[in-house]
Amino acid sequence: MSEFAFELELCAALENERDGIVARQLGASVASGGGRILDIVHIEPSPAFDRRAEISPSAIPAAAIESDVGTGRARYWKSCFDCHPERARRAVERALEIGFFERERRGGRDYVRQTTRYPEWAGRILAIENKPDLASPGDLEHQLRLDVSLGLVDEVVLATESYVTRAHLNRLPDPVGVWRIHRESIDLERSSRGENTSKGGVNSSKGGSNGTDNRVSGIESVASGALEIEVIREPTPLPADGPGVEPVAYHPGRTDIAVLSAEAKARVRRRLLERAYGKGWRTYGFPACARARTARLDGATLPYCPWLGRVVDAESDCGPTCAGFEALEGDTPTEIDLEAEREHRTGWVRDPQGTKRRQSGLDRFG
Ligand code: SF4
Repeated sequence: MSEFAFELELCAALENERDGIVARQLGASVASGGGRILDIVHIEPSPAFDRRAEISPSAIPAAAIESDVGTGRARYWKSCFDCHPERARRAVERALEIGFFERERRGGRDYVRQTTRYPEWAGRILAIENKPDLASPGDLEHQLRLDVSLGLVDEVVLATESYVTRAHLNRLPDPVGVWRIHRESIDLERSSRGENTSKGGVNSSKGGSNGTDNRVSGIESVASGALEIEVIREPTPLPADGPGVEPVAYHPGRTDIAVLSAEAKARVRRRLLERAYGKGWRTYGFPACARARTARLDGATLPYCPWLGRVVDAESDCGPTCAGFEALEGDTPTEIDLEAEREHRTGWVRDPQGTKRRQSGLDRFG
C-alpha cells in the first residue's frame, strides 16, 4: 500500500464522516523553519465557520489577520504592521485581492480596513501521522515526540494498516492515539456490474453520483468500499493553549530545543488553520495515461490505476517511464472538477458573496 494512496483514502473517509476541514501536507514547525510536515489535519468547525466561509475560499494571510487594520476607520497601511515592509505589502495586496481588506485612496496614500472581523472559526485540531506499514517506521518516533512536546494541535493520532502490538504502543508517546485502518481493495469487477458502494460526489461529467454511470470525461470510474477506522487507543488532548518545546536538532546524547511562547504557537496555529482552509486535501492530479481510471471512494474522486491496482500519484507514479504507461489517443480528458466536489462535500464555499461593503478604488495598491 503506498502512503499516498493510504493518505488520500483516509482523507476521503474523514471528510465523509466529519464536519469541518480536512487538509494534507501542512507545515507545522515553529522554530525549525518548516521541517515538520503534518500528513493530515482535521479541523472541527466552530459556530463561526460559516462567517469564515463568507470571506474567501483562499487562505487569509496571517500578517493581515495579526495587523492593526481593523473594521472601523481605514488606516494608513504602513502604520498597521509590525513585520518586514515587504511581508506587510504582500499581505495587504493579498488581503485586498481576496476581499478581506478594502482600500481608500487619500492624498496619494493607501488606507485600508478589514471588510469584516476575522472569525475564530476553528474548534479542535487533530493531526494524523500516516504509517501504513509499521515495519518501516522511518522517523516516526521523532516526529510524534515533536508533535507532542510542541503541542501545536489539540490531538495527534497515528494511522496504520499494520497489526498494532503492545511493543508498538510502548514506543509511542502516551498522548498519541492509534487508529488501525481496515480497507477493502478497490473492486473494478463490482463496478463494472454497477454496484458502486460510494455515497456520491461531483465531477465535471454527466452522471456519476449514483454509481451507475461513472464515465468521467472518457475515464471510466471504478467503485470501492468504504474504509473502516478501528480505534486502538484514544488520543489524549495536548495543552495547545500553553507554551511548547520544539526539538530543533538531534546530536548524539543531546537534543537542541527551542522554547516557544503561547503567543508564538497561537500565530503558527492560525497560519496552519488558514492554510488548511485554503488548501484542503484535493491537491492531486490525474494521470495522462490511457490506463488511468478514477475511483470513487466515500464521495471523493481519486486517481486510480487498474494496472497497479491502487490509487496512484500522477506526479511520482505515472509517465512514459512507467512500464504500464499507454499514451492517450484522441482528446485529453477534461479536468475533473475537484473544487466543485469539495464544495459539495464540505462547508467550504468556492465563490462566496464576500464581505466587501463597497467597491475599492480601481488604482493598483502602492
Ligand atoms: S502511467 Fe503507469 S501507474 Fe500511471 S496510470 Fe498508467 S499504467 Fe498506471
